[in-house]
Amino acid sequence: MSVTERQLPVHAPMNQFAVSEGELVVGGDRLSRLAARVGQTPFYAYDRGLLRARVAELRNVLPQGVKLHYAMKANPMPAVVGFMAGLVDGIDVASAGELKVALDAGANPLEVSFAGPGKRDAELRQAVASRVLINLESFREVTALEAISGELGLPARVAVRVNPDFELKGSGMKMGGGPKQFGVDVEQMPALLADIGRAGLAFEGFHLFAGSQNLRSESICEAQQKSYELAVRLAMDAPSPVRFLNLGGGFGIPYFPGEQRLDLSPIGDNLARLAQRAQAELPEAAFVIELGRYLVGEAGVYVARIVDRKVSRGQVYLVADGGLHHHLSASGNFGQVVRKNYPVTIGNKADSLDKETVSVVGPLCTPLDLLADRMTLPVAQVGDLAVVFQSGAYGASASPQGFLGHPACVEVLV
Ligand SMILES: *Cc1c(COP(=O)(O)O)cnc(C)c1O
Repeated sequence: MSVTERQLPVHAPMNQFAVSEGELVVGGDRLSRLAARVGQTPFYAYDRGLLRARVAELRNVLPQGVKLHYAMKANPMPAVVGFMAGLVDGIDVASAGELKVALDAGANPLEVSFAGPGKRDAELRQAVASRVLINLESFREVTALEAISGELGLPARVAVRVNPDFELKGSGMKMGGGPKQFGVDVEQMPALLADIGRAGLAFEGFHLFAGSQNLRSESICEAQQKSYELAVRLAMDAPSPVRFLNLGGGFGIPYFPGEQRLDLSPIGDNLARLAQRAQAELPEAAFVIELGRYLVGEAGVYVARIVDRKVSRGQVYLVADGGLHHHLSASGNFGQVVRKNYPVTIGNKADSLDKETVSVVGPLCTPLDLLADRMTLPVAQVGDLAVVFQSGAYGASASPQGFLGHPACVEVLV
């Protein structure tokens, strides 16, 4: 194949949303109608039907008995957490603030787990009193929980977050292996497990979370298998049988050109094999998979209105009323090493064949405020609606809304 024939990498098709009369349909409404209903731009909209479909798709491939948890830091909007709480088996929280949202949403505290480095004593106290499972991440937390359990007359339910001696290969963000602030190193586990036994805490199992945003099912399977085998080894030093084994998640979604959707079926098969082994090796353990972005990311869009159209030295700029301050990750400033475009369209002209190459920028006085860098999009004018796909996770709550004093965005669950 010659160089001229080679295809440039393209975005995975964003066909989760239908197009009707030229407009994207989100939550059953055409986009211009939805914008009118919301009453302002910019906004985020999360589609209930897509959330439900994603959970159903997972249930279809996960073996019976594997629990599905929602890691709510991906999208902590209370209405989303409430909706997800009705679909999944448990909620994973990473602060007392998230714990409150999860409990308010009606999540069963026995199926809530609390992870994160630097849990303050006040947060640990709230967690023990709520009877949620605490994923221990340090020796200090054992000491603090021993005191709190004594004071409340309630033994803390704990699992240990293990910092494994391997990584999730090919992850957007590595959260295990090597030196890390997360979890307790494998090498320190025998001492920690002995401490937990001495402190009289209610030990339930292990939590392993090796990384995030992974699109390679082989890597995910390999990490799950290594996590499982590590848990079997660690169980020998545990103060009581392992009843809970959180094998993490890390399932990614396609954001950038050339990326494709994750193939779930090998992951389901792999988990079925591990569950089979566990019947003999960890007979009391329930497996948990915890997912954030994979559950909610593809169900959300960010919508901003074009407020100006400018041409600078031949390059067209569509200036939108929203940008980096609401959607840091689409601007390329949330952990990305090299900036790449999220999938973007003009949502009220989604199937237009009249296209041009433009940059979509936000209103902030910084060149970092970029939603689309020289993309080929339907020709747009002032008043049209720029849409960033794949925006249901790490959007509003992961963005510096106060930066430059523009109005806050609105979030709707539709
Ligand atoms: C952030 C986080 C998750 C969710 O990660 P996603 O990439 O959104 O699936 C799950 N577990 C833990 C411990 C986390 O910190």
